[in-house]
Amino acid sequence: MYNEKMIKLGEERSVIRELFEYGNARKKIVGVENVFDFSIGNPAVPPPACVREEIRRLADSDHGYSSAPGLFQVREAISGYIETAFGAQMRPDLIYMTCGASASLTVVLNGIVNRGDEIVVLAPFFPEYRVFTEHAGGTLVVAPTDENFHLDAEKLRPYLNKRTKAVILNSPNNPSGAVYSEGEIEALAALLHEKSAEREEPILLLADEPYRELSYDKKVPHVMNFYEHSLVLYSFSKALSLAGERIGYIAVSPKCHRAEELFSAICGAGRALGFVCAPVLFQRAVANCLGQVSDIGEYRRRRDLLYQSLTRMGYSCVKPEGAFYLFVRSPEPDANNFCERAKKYELLLVPSDSFGVKGYVRISYCVDMGVIERSLPAFEKLIGEYR
Ligand code: PLP
Repeated sequence: MYNEKMIKLGEERSVIRELFEYGNARKKIVGVENVFDFSIGNPAVPPPACVREEIRRLADSDHGYSSAPGLFQVREAISGYIETAFGAQMRPDLIYMTCGASASLTVVLNGIVNRGDEIVVLAPFFPEYRVFTEHAGGTLVVAPTDENFHLDAEKLRPYLNKRTKAVILNSPNNPSGAVYSEGEIEALAALLHEKSAEREEPILLLADEPYRELSYDKKVPHVMNFYEHSLVLYSFSKALSLAGERIGYIAVSPKCHRAEELFSAICGAGRALGFVCAPVLFQRAVANCLGQVSDIGEYRRRRDLLYQSLTRMGYSCVKPEGAFYLFVRSPEPDANNFCERAKKYELLLVPSDSFGVKGYVRISYCVDMGVIERSLPAFEKLIGEYR
């Protein structure tokens, strides 16, 4: 008998991946131009020039293993960057290079969770948090946000208890596009301090940050400047349009409770999960491109066109402040039905149920501008069915 839990996980696949595969099949039948695939967060904006140059330059470099946490000079570069760019205290020996944010999440969760521990997330949230938490032996606890999907510490309060191991924060947020303000993070930190004082060990704050640089107007506060027991789970997938190359890092704040022991647990989890080391070519490449971002103006143009067009047609949504998703209210209570109807017009939208809230759809607008422009008549016909 094979592992039943894994068979189930493999067979059910994620709603997003399912739609993505459906879209590929439809493209073969009705033509690439006629399918409007807004399912997956695969950046269509090219990587910045420095990334492409580094990849070419590094073709002749050493491709052997690095040490498990990564090349030391790369960890030094990242540590220095965190200190100068965000003013947060950091140390290279507390940086662990990973294969992107998913690996950062699984490694940290496996490193910190003891059976029965609770991991608190804010709805709406990235659906894989549930898979990663449960596989690590934890229980996912879903707390609400406010009516604009912003962080409200008082709404979170009832969900924190003696079993809470960590809170995962994701800002800019997938799928809502919310960017949490300094005031919101300050209130969260005060709550975590208060709750941590009632226990032997503090609650950890895990900042999942694949979209940090993709904030249109607001600065994204650095959690380590607000709460000492913080870890940043970073990925270059989105900011540098490198999603398929798998590169990111974990940064443990030196002020974290027993930071060195926590780092050992991270190394142990990385080893147990068989990651060995992050891709060395990309460790080197990103170290030389820190602070660079794909053209965010391209994402802003997509957001503005889609937001203005859809709201004019009568769709309702909060304007995204960051990331590259539009979270739109479904015109009928069951978002799954709405997404099925959308398929009639070759519009592939993701229903919100797996993000932990009902009645919304996520539109991933990191696609070619032409896809958005061509899709607008289809959106118009779709909303027409509800008039
Ligand atoms: N966390 C969030 C909130 C995401 O949206 C994603 C990817 O879409 C990930 C983590 C995983 O990113 P990566 O490609 O770096 O594994």
